[in-house]
Amino acid sequence: MSELGRMIWENVTAIGDEEKEECIHCGKEWYRTHHNDGVCRRCQKQGLPGRTELAEKKLLFKWVVFIGIAVLCLLVFLVILG
Ligand SMILES: [Zn+2]
Repeated sequence: MSELGRMIWENVTAIGDEEKEECIHCGKEWYRTHHNDGVCRRCQKQGLPGRTELAEKKLLFKWVVFIGIAVLCLLVFLVILG
């Protein structure tokens, strides 16, 4: 194979080797460049949240639960004392 031929071949196989990633919503495999934060373009158009946004929401939910429990404990404490 000529030098030019080898270079073209290497580029073609490199494109094929590009890593694929599963969409976190529909599970469809796409090339990583089609994804934004783990979400494929189709799901992005539907306005579905990315990996980071989901993680932030989970963290917020944990805090809400934690504060809820804390308030509940305080109320029980006040009732027992009162
Ligand atoms: Zn998707």
